[in-house]
Amino acid sequence: MNLPRFTYHGPASLKECIAILADEENGAQVLAGGSDLLVRMKLRLETPGRLVSLSNIPGLKDITYRSGKGLAIGAGVALSVLASDAVIREKCPALADAAGLVATNQIRTVATVGGNILQNTRCRYYNRSSVWGKAVAPCFKRNGALCHVVPRGKRCFAVYQGDLAPLLIALNATATILSKKGAEEVPVGSLYSGDGKAPFNKLAGKIATKLTISEDSLDMRSAYRKYRLRGGIDFPLAGVAAALKLRNGLVEDLRLCLTGIASCPVTVPGAGEKVKGRPLSRDAAREAGKLAYAAAHPLANLEGDPATRRSMIRIMTEDILTTFIQAANSK
Ligand SMILES: Cc1cc2nc3c(=O)[nH]c(=O)nc-3n(C[C@H](O)[C@H](O)[C@H](O)COP(=O)(O)OP(=O)(O)OC[C@H]3O[C@@H](n4cnc5c(N)ncnc54)[C@H](O)[C@@H]3O)c2cc1C
Repeated sequence: MNLPRFTYHGPASLKECIAILADEENGAQVLAGGSDLLVRMKLRLETPGRLVSLSNIPGLKDITYRSGKGLAIGAGVALSVLASDAVIREKCPALADAAGLVATNQIRTVATVGGNILQNTRCRYYNRSSVWGKAVAPCFKRNGALCHVVPRGKRCFAVYQGDLAPLLIALNATATILSKKGAEEVPVGSLYSGDGKAPFNKLAGKIATKLTISEDSLDMRSAYRKYRLRGGIDFPLAGVAAALKLRNGLVEDLRLCLTGIASCPVTVPGAGEKVKGRPLSRDAAREAGKLAYAAAHPLANLEGDPATRRSMIRIMTEDILTTFIQAANSK
């Protein structure tokens, strides 16, 4: 499949990059590794006239840890680097593990952290060729007025399937977003709109430059589990990230975030409150699993049975907490 025609820009500075993106007339889009965007373009799901590559911009591939300040990860860091970097492995091994579960080795080599958290939503009726698209009535995401998954639905239910965002959200990570007005630091969770058709909140003309995880969050125990059909390549059909803080053997905080089940990463409400002040036990793990199950409402928009995907959310949540219990007991 060929790419549609576009003009390529390779600016050498963020300033130049923002200037090109800020000109709304030219419909320019950020190009990072291209493993999401170029595929979408080949399928004619989008046809931006200009692509602004981040690859020549210095500083976007840096990983730095500063005591008391936490971990800063450049948006241009490749997932293969994230998975193997010694600093990430030491300070946040769950993030390295999650990166290592994305797609394939080849894709991880080009795919970036920024592109991963800002990848578009997906649906079995949408991520298809233009020929396929012409054979059925256009859905909301193809600028039509219906949803093939929820026939009387009033909006698009395409699914967010990124592997890194749920963990970053569970760790209360922030993203630095640069626009022509300057840089602002926002919670990663606030980037997502929850609408399958337009999954991000006001990011046009902006660049994510880095992600930051605070020292407090790095002190938490964290983990990510992913359910997929083929271990070697597939997107998550369901995923669970957890971050746990223990003090004197009692739970002080528990944050759970899910992926692959809705149009944005879903934070499980009430997880921390449910187990706060209690010892970390099998009972607590089961209750957290039930809460995560209650927060997950997958639809028939991906491969895999929605009921199985929902059950896997509960099973993976319990599994993570069981691993935390074992780790705490082995100290
Ligand atoms: C076969 C296959 C399997 C995959 N499996 C998985 C999987 O298992 N798990 C998973 O999470 N993902 C998966 N992906 C999705 C995705 O390609 C990668 O996760 C990847 O990380 C995207 O990063 P990229 O740098 O290639 O982004 P690009 O494709 O370059 O960009 C993606 C989007 O983000 C925007 N963008 C990128 N960087 C920035 C930035 N710094 N600031 C602002 N906007 C930006 C782009 O404009 C574009 O809209 C898979 C993709 C393929 C093709």
